Amino acid sequence: MKVAFFSSKAYDRTFFEAANADYGHDLQFFETGLSLGTVQLATGFRAVCSFVNDRLDAITLEALAELGVEHVALRCAGFNQVDLSAAERLGLRVVRVPAYSPHAVAEHAIALILTLNRKIHRAYARTREGNFALDGLVGFDLNGCTVGIIGTGRIGAVLTQILRGFGCHVLAHDLVENPDCLAAGAVYTDLDQLWQEAQIISLHCPLTPQTYHLVNREAIAKMQPGTMLINTSRGGLVDTQAVIEGLKLKRIGALGLDVYEQEEPLFFQDHSTEIIHDDVFQRLLTFPNVVITGHQAFLTDTALHNIAETTLSNLTDLEQGRACPNQLFAG
Ligand code: NAD
Repeated sequence: MKVAFFSSKAYDRTFFEAANADYGHDLQFFETGLSLGTVQLATGFRAVCSFVNDRLDAITLEALAELGVEHVALRCAGFNQVDLSAAERLGLRVVRVPAYSPHAVAEHAIALILTLNRKIHRAYARTREGNFALDGLVGFDLNGCTVGIIGTGRIGAVLTQILRGFGCHVLAHDLVENPDCLAAGAVYTDLDQLWQEAQIISLHCPLTPQTYHLVNREAIAKMQPGTMLINTSRGGLVDTQAVIEGLKLKRIGALGLDVYEQEEPLFFQDHSTEIIHDDVFQRLLTFPNVVITGHQAFLTDTALHNIAETTLSNLTDLEQGRACPNQLFAG
């Protein structure tokens, strides 16, 4: 099947071309993102393959359908960027990669926790300048500390296991309890208790109308002074302005982000020679206790291999008119 890849990078191409030896699809890679302005590039393709920040709103989906595109293959797990009702109305089949490596994302959350706790980002800069002073680098033992995990699906479950290995107590919150987390010793609780008791809070639920700005002024006001907040899920889970206030009041003692609500014009591109106009993002970068990575939690070779395999297998299912286990339907 002819497939147009949007927002593609050299690493996508490497892993997809290698995996495609077993599938034989006709892949064309575009670096540009998919939006109404770029949709014409999909002319002549039966499927498009898109990533987290490609905007698949109703108007873009309509334009794709008009061009004769039949399938949308998301090479990611989250699908908050897709108007599924519009896709269904237009007869477009949408598939995704529900799981490619929960370990990759959980381990990145751990990287952020350890970096912020032990001030590795500051120590790295200091030692390179010949400054071996330790003032300001005091951390705390993770052993014995209480960590709140919101969303205990695939990634939250792996994180629970890793944290239990560190000797942490895990408070969990989800709409459904995960037996693996219970077996690992997590204790399920309501959000209020989690906000109040956790020294570290890590977000692993999807972005939905219910979880939009889950971390807001009210939630932050309930947290212990100095709470560490980690978000590797979706930017919209956090009210960034409220978090900046929380950092200034030291209610939030450290912030680790891999995602940001307004990341779309910034992330996945090199803007190092430009002026960045997002003052909220720039303010975040001025705090010594904030570490931001550019949506890279998924970026391991295992994950990229699995993303390519599952996406190409999804496309084969679509091409052959078979039911695909990874197809999305409007709820
Ligand atoms: P999953 O579907 O296995 O788990 C999500 C969990 O969140 C489920 O257990 C679900 O019941 C729970 N949930 C849903 N609504 C909730 C609510 N209102 N309150 C509490 N819990 C709720 O998903 P996953 O594979 O663990 O991925 C989690 C999220 O991580 C994805 O939705 C995606 O946004 C994000 N993600 C980020 C990256 C990255 O590179 N940064 C990579 C992959 C996934």
